Amino acid sequence: MRALLAIALLALCGWWSLPWLKTHLPPQWNPFTPLSVTDPQGWMMRYKLQRLSHDPAACMAVMQRASQQGWVEFRAVPALKGDCPIEQPLRVSGFGEVTLSSSFLASCPMAVSSTIYVVNSTHALQQAGINSPIRHISHVGSYACRNIYHRQQGRLSEHATADAWDVTGFQLADGRWLQVAKNWHQPEDAAAGLRALWQNGCATFGNALGPDYNAAHAGHFHLGMRGAGYCR
Ligand SMILES: [Zn+2]
Repeated sequence: MRALLAIALLALCGWWSLPWLKTHLPPQWNPFTPLSVTDPQGWMMRYKLQRLSHDPAACMAVMQRASQQGWVEFRAVPALKGDCPIEQPLRVSGFGEVTLSSSFLASCPMAVSSTIYVVNSTHALQQAGINSPIRHISHVGSYACRNIYHRQQGRLSEHATADAWDVTGFQLADGRWLQVAKNWHQPEDAAAGLRALWQNGCATFGNALGPDYNAAHAGHFHLGMRGAGYCR
């Protein structure tokens, strides 16, 4: 009974402080303000990303703001039907100064996550001692109507809903390449850069799988929306 009373009292305090919280919390820590792709990575960003997956209009608004601020270039494309339908697919063609080997199809939440990923990549590289930002990303796609590992049976891959992106390499502003297939172990500075970029994936996506996960990922990072920071 006492515990119940305490919970009721706490809930009341929370309710009373709501209006104050709504106006006084900084936007990146305020659960009521919309997500921005420049918000710090962390549980609040994850919470807001999670909400976007149930709110297509809010997700589109986040992407439009990011595009106006020059973080991403994309266009909405018609809904996909068939075995692997997508309600609101986007075609992402670049991230500001960062060009792509080709444009890719993304669910709206995945487009938001990939933008946050690129926004944070410069800082991730700096922490690994690399002071040259990313200027180009090569990848092998995002949307494929198939099961996990192309198996006959089993559940659909995240790629079947354009909720995952397979990235193979990064070119830096100084011209250097960090290729997942070639540089995961050497040379040391490139390997450190790739590890930082993979960990940046863990901080942004639901899961980030790299060469240490299994042989199927020896040449690319799989950056997907399922999970809450699964990192292998
Ligand atoms: Zn993949």
